[in-house]
This record gives sequence, C-alpha cells and structure tokens, in this order.
Amino acid sequence: MHTLLLKNAWLDGACKNVLIEDCRFKTIGAPDGTPADEVIDASGKALLPPFYNTHTHAAMSLLRGYADDMPLQRWLTDYIWPFENKMTAADIRKGSLLAAREMITTGTVFFSDMYFDIDETIKVVQETGMRAAIGVTFVESHTKSQQYEKLETLRHWVDPTGGLITLTVAPHAVYTVGPELLVRCAEVARELGMKLHIHLSETRREVDDCIREHSMTPVRYLDKLGVLGDNVIAAHVVHVDEEEAAILAARGVTISHCPCSNMKLASGVFPYKMLHKAGCRITLGTDGDSSNNNLDMREEMKFAALQAKSSSGDPETMPADEALAMATRAGAEAFGIDAGVIAEGKLADALLVDLQDVQMQPLHNLVSNWVYAASSRCIDTVICNGKVLMTQSR
Ligand SMILES: [Zn+2]
Repeated sequence: MHTLLLKNAWLDGACKNVLIEDCRFKTIGAPDGTPADEVIDASGKALLPPFYNTHTHAAMSLLRGYADDMPLQRWLTDYIWPFENKMTAADIRKGSLLAAREMITTGTVFFSDMYFDIDETIKVVQETGMRAAIGVTFVESHTKSQQYEKLETLRHWVDPTGGLITLTVAPHAVYTVGPELLVRCAEVARELGMKLHIHLSETRREVDDCIREHSMTPVRYLDKLGVLGDNVIAAHVVHVDEEEAAILAARGVTISHCPCSNMKLASGVFPYKMLHKAGCRITLGTDGDSSNNNLDMREEMKFAALQAKSSSGDPETMPADEALAMATRAGAEAFGIDAGVIAEGKLADALLVDLQDVQMQPLHNLVSNWVYAASSRCIDTVICNGKVLMTQSR
C-alpha cells in the first residue's frame, strides 16, 4: 500500500488535508500529522478535478502548425494526408510522446484517441502513467486482412497497466466507412463491451454527401444501421436538427464537443443549447493538434462557454460550472472511469492549481477564475490514479 498526503489543499472553501491510499481518495479532511509515504505541501493551492479529453488524435501533434488557415478539403488532401502517408511507427511514438507531455502539463489525465499504429501510443501511455481509450481505427480503404487483424487486436486485448488503458472500436466516419463495416464495428463493440468512437456530422459537406448517397442525414443513417447506443462516443456533432438531437439523447450517445477545432476549420456552429435541452450527454475534446492547435482542455472549456453564449445570444448558456463538469466529470463518466470529482472512495485523479498566480486573484469565485481567467501555467501538480505525474511542489 502506498499513501500520498496533500497537506492544506483548498477544497470546497476550506483548507483540508487529503489522504490518497493507492489509487483512491481515502480521507478528505485527514487530521494534521497523518503519516504518509509521500507528502505534498498544497498550501495556497486548490484541489480540482483534472481533464478528460474525449476526442483527439495524439500523434498528430507532429502536424501542429504544418497547415493552417485554409478550407478543410484542401487542408486534408494537400497537406494532412500526404504528411500522414509518410509517418512511420517511430514518428507515431514521437508524436504521442509530445502529445502526452502536453496533456499532462495542461492538466489532462485521460484521452480518447483515434489514430494508427496504436502499439506506439499504448507504450507511451503506459510509460507516462496516464489513462487512455485508444481507438482501433477502421476505414474502408484498408484491406480485408488489415480489417481482420484489427478485429483480432480487439478480441485479444489485455490491458498491460491493469486498468488505465482500454481499446475502443473506431470507425472513422460515415464517409470513410461503408454500411457493412459500420454494422460489423457496432456488433464487435457490443460483443466485447467496448466503446465505439466515430466522427459524426462534423461538416455541412459530410451531411450533404450522406443525404445524396443514403437519402438521410448521418445521425439518422447510423440509427437505421443500429449503430447508435450508449456505448457510442460521437465527435463534433455540429450539423444536427432537433429530431436528431432527440435520437442521440434517446440512444444515450455521448457527444464530444470540439469547439476550437470546429471554429478554426470553420466547420459550423455547435448547437449547444439545443443538444443540452434535448438531454444529450456532452463532453469536451480538443481534436488533434493539427486543427486546434493545442491539447489544452482548460482553453477548450473557455472556448466552449464563450461559443455557446455567443451563438445563442444568451450569456446564461453554459455557465462556468457546467463547462468545468463537461471537461471533467462528464468525460470520466462517459468512459466508465470512477473519477472526475474529488471525493472519498473515488479514483484519485486531481490537479493542484496555484491560487497565488496573478490570474487566480482575487478569489471571488474559484470555478470562474479557473474557467475564464487562468491558463495552464497555474497548474502545479497533476495526479492520476494516485500517482504524481507532474509537480512543482517537492
Ligand atoms: Zn477528429
């Protein structure tokens, strides 16, 4: 058994000692002098839940700043795809490592990934001590034997960390995966009890092409195929109507809202108010570094809140605590991780945030400061599963 004591952390409006035993919070408000194997002086620091990034492509950190400020199709065909065609397994490793370092230093302990050469990304996650749901990506252009190999990978998956890494079945999108393979992916995900991670209704073009080819929108098409269910993580979901919002809510689909990527690629305006009102589960994702151009979930919270207010013309839309819950608790819940809140018995994932930083003063409202004012430089310590991934307080 290993114990970690956070001394004098600011939590729920008071200074408290927080004892972590192995991977879980044991005592909130432990007495002074409580012995522990490891002690961090958390005086002047707030204890907050860390971030759970529900949609990204980690290795694409290598494409940060490679191509910007152009239409999506030109961006993909002239820059991103030719670059990716030359990427080796060693590149995927370097990209994943860069992304993991970026995520940890900006307070993220979990990411849901969708990319290729997953072995390299898995090794990086294992080395860094983060949590991850790694997508086994399916696209129609892969050969039958490649598809078979991927299915075998899913069937024989054993988590080398004993609980931090899961695999997801990740058909890329309705425009890159045909109906037969989509149905197969849904069946496999259900059979193996895995999440299914897919891009959905990201651009107007995706919707128009789907209507032309299948006489219905992507959400209705996936629903007709029987793909949608409470194990589905749908990234973007920008172009949907009210009926589609009701379908997504009824099926229990988790939406990964990626405000920065949507705005930078001018993909469209995420209808937050409508989806929220329909009862959809909404989480936050950064998408890849190639279209964001960082993996900073704190920034993503602020952009999400500002975009929701600005697009609805209603400043009461997505208050700060709602943005924080989307970036933390909702993401953890969507992936069945018993974390995302600081409470006894929960998995010990947490951040210590420096309250002395100029952006965190004065402290009228901690959550407001954290969502609207701070930057990731205020992050002092990152803890995942009871282990310190980064700290400046030793
Ligand atoms: Zn994406």
